[in-house]
Amino acid sequence: MNDATLALSALLILAYIGFELIFTEVKAEIDLSIPVATFVLAILGLVYSLAIYRFLAKKSHLFAGLISYILITTAIASLIIGSGGLQSQFVALWMIPAILSYMFGMPVLIVAWLATNAYLILMAVDVVNSGSDLTLTLLYFITMQLPFMVSYMIWRRSGASTETSEDSSGFKDKDLSADLLIESIAEGVVVVDLEGTLKLFNKAAEDITGWSKVDAIGLNYRSLLKLQDEKGVPIDKSKDPIRIVLASNKSLINDELSLKTRSEKIIEVTLVVSPINDRDGGVKAVAVVFRDVSEERHQQKQRAEFISTASHEMRTPVAAIEGYLALALNDKVSKIDSAAKGYLEKAHASTQHLGKLFQDLLTAAKSEDGRLTNNPVVTDMSAFMEQIVEDMRFTAEKKGLQVIQSFGAGAAKSGGGAMNPVYLANIDPERMREVLTNLFDNAVKYTEEGKLTIGFTGNQETMTISITDTGAGIPPEDVGHLFQKFYRVDNSATRQVGGTGLGLFITKKIVELYHGRVWVESKLGEGSTFFIELPRLDQTKADQLKQLETAQKTPLSTVQKPTNI
Ligand code: ADP
Repeated sequence: MNDATLALSALLILAYIGFELIFTEVKAEIDLSIPVATFVLAILGLVYSLAIYRFLAKKSHLFAGLISYILITTAIASLIIGSGGLQSQFVALWMIPAILSYMFGMPVLIVAWLATNAYLILMAVDVVNSGSDLTLTLLYFITMQLPFMVSYMIWRRSGASTETSEDSSGFKDKDLSADLLIESIAEGVVVVDLEGTLKLFNKAAEDITGWSKVDAIGLNYRSLLKLQDEKGVPIDKSKDPIRIVLASNKSLINDELSLKTRSEKIIEVTLVVSPINDRDGGVKAVAVVFRDVSEERHQQKQRAEFISTASHEMRTPVAAIEGYLALALNDKVSKIDSAAKGYLEKAHASTQHLGKLFQDLLTAAKSEDGRLTNNPVVTDMSAFMEQIVEDMRFTAEKKGLQVIQSFGAGAAKSGGGAMNPVYLANIDPERMREVLTNLFDNAVKYTEEGKLTIGFTGNQETMTISITDTGAGIPPEDVGHLFQKFYRVDNSATRQVGGTGLGLFITKKIVELYHGRVWVESKLGEGSTFFIELPRLDQTKADQLKQLETAQKTPLSTVQKPTNI
């Protein structure tokens, strides 16, 4: 707005000087006199808009713009009124304030529109009173509605009326501009193009890496973002998240890498790498958002260490108490009356619960810091599953639940009972038993009546185990949280059932250890199905792994360790 005021004021001043002082003969021919009031207002407008530019540096301030607008509008109004009103040579100049009015929002447009029409009506009354022809006034009346409509349309469409708008706290929508936002984000934001050149490097990226934007822009990202794995080895190209996203056009999150800063300090980072697409959907660059999580990880480690030490220490006395209680309850070794037996049975059950809680805490803590013992061996999963179902059948049937084994679709059972084809996986059977026991125990715990169905299917690459129950089901809003640590669904159906909220967390961690995934599909009141998908091992890889297992069991053996497995 200040630009317009500056230009118009200067023009009016020049016109005044020109017509009043220099080209006086021209003025005599056509009446182009500029009233003194206009000249004064134009000077005010000029001084004001210059002051705004030079000293206040508030070019986009709404209030400053409005004052500019008022100054230039009054200058033009004084020019038109002072040079003959509707007969003035300058009447068309009124288009300017009219068109600019909606820049300051609806109230200003309405005031300007009402003032214009009030003036036109007054003029029309004068014309009627003097008995002259109304046609010209009517024409003006119709014509002057147009610029207001145009103003509404242009500023609304361009969004300029809101662009400069400002709320009571002085916050402008301009403050939301992408550049400002990127600079203000507390996480490192960098953009890397197809050649690997850094195109953007925000303030937080400077703080985290120690490199300045000036150093970074234009350089290859590998010379500044020195990513390395947990062993401190610089990551190779195949593991570089930026390269992966450039090649795959899919975003990824990585929270396993560290970054070497300019001062050679190693910090742990979480990276979110997303592709930036061109119009055709191809990758033209990647945006990397990263955060220093060293402190968080350190605290996490300390917490996990504390929990695992505490649960380890507490598990031993609890196991002793459980053992003595079992002895006290054993008719063959102790003689107690029936009331004492009742109390001891309760104490025994609670101690078992406590023991399970400590065990789960310990496993959860270990699974988080990678200390979970894991001895994977090549396992025939169909045979393994059959065994598991047999072992668990008893618990379910004791509660009156039917257990159905439904191995099918690609995993058909042959006459002898063995599965055909064979589905091999490289898993630790003890860990996988823990997973399946968790899921099976939950299915029994949360099902009052009906049946449990254990499914097993597979294809060339994967195999899927499913455990379906006809129990309470899980509310949809809880499904997304089930695999979080300590998460328990809180409703009347689940409240009476004891638990720690750690079983599914541990299950997920173990399944992920084998590059598998676990998920649930559930209908409240009808039941749930928990699925586990595991990668299937092909025969060649299985043979290589078996060879390796044999070599590890017999240290003096001369069997060569296969590589690239
Ligand atoms: P918990 O020790 O509480 O069973 P889990 O981690 O094993 O802990 O399970 C978390 C929550 O998920 C449970 O508290 C329960 O509300 C819900 N849940 C798990 N399995 C089932 C199931 N088969 N049917 C209904 N709810 C289930």
